[in-house]
Amino acid sequence: MNEKILLVEDEKTLAKALKFNLEKEGFRVEVAFDGEEALNAMSGEEPDLVILDLMLPKIDGYEVCRSIRRSSDVPIIMLTARDEDIDKILGLELGADDYMTKPFNTRELLARIKAILRRTVQQAAAVRSFIKVGDLQIDVIKRKVTVKGREVALTSREYNLLSLLASNPGKVYSREELLEEIWGDDYSGDVRTVDVHIRHLREKIEEFPAEPNIILTVWGAGYKFREE
Ligand code: CA
Repeated sequence: MNEKILLVEDEKTLAKALKFNLEKEGFRVEVAFDGEEALNAMSGEEPDLVILDLMLPKIDGYEVCRSIRRSSDVPIIMLTARDEDIDKILGLELGADDYMTKPFNTRELLARIKAILRRTVQQAAAVRSFIKVGDLQIDVIKRKVTVKGREVALTSREYNLLSLLASNPGKVYSREELLEEIWGDDYSGDVRTVDVHIRHLREKIEEFPAEPNIILTVWGAGYKFREE
């Protein structure tokens, strides 16, 4: 589906022109004419990007930005007047991703939007394809595991077990759950099979296998992957 942009702009002529140009580029556009409408729009389907005018009726762009940031990492491009404090807009306090000073060139704005969306997609892909904890790195795409940069040879079961635990850090898996997930429903083995595989895994990836700090035992419950 096409990416959705929330456009928050109270100047109706400008909002209309921008909406037209964004839609021409294939974006879906929702327009909010004041801060209140903007926050209402955020509680529905989350947009992929927000274009946010600073000077707005009811709730101003600063407050809207702060409020969005409390619950969302959605990229935000601020539309500002020439004399705005750019450090404040891009800094920790507001956390916008970019800004455009009015009056601006629409093509320039489109270029910024595309650059930010491209970056967001790349980051999302990077999170899925690499897991890194301490000296351990898992390349999910290549199914390759390294410790301190050195490749570790894992059996297919060991790898599957490791990547399942690692993809949900902090989640406790019981032995039965792991058996079912990794060995499958029809496996009639003992849950101690899981313990043996965990021991082998620890010998390969832990610095001190007897005192593991990556794959942790939760007494009476099962195992979990360390949270960063
Ligand atoms: Ca305005």
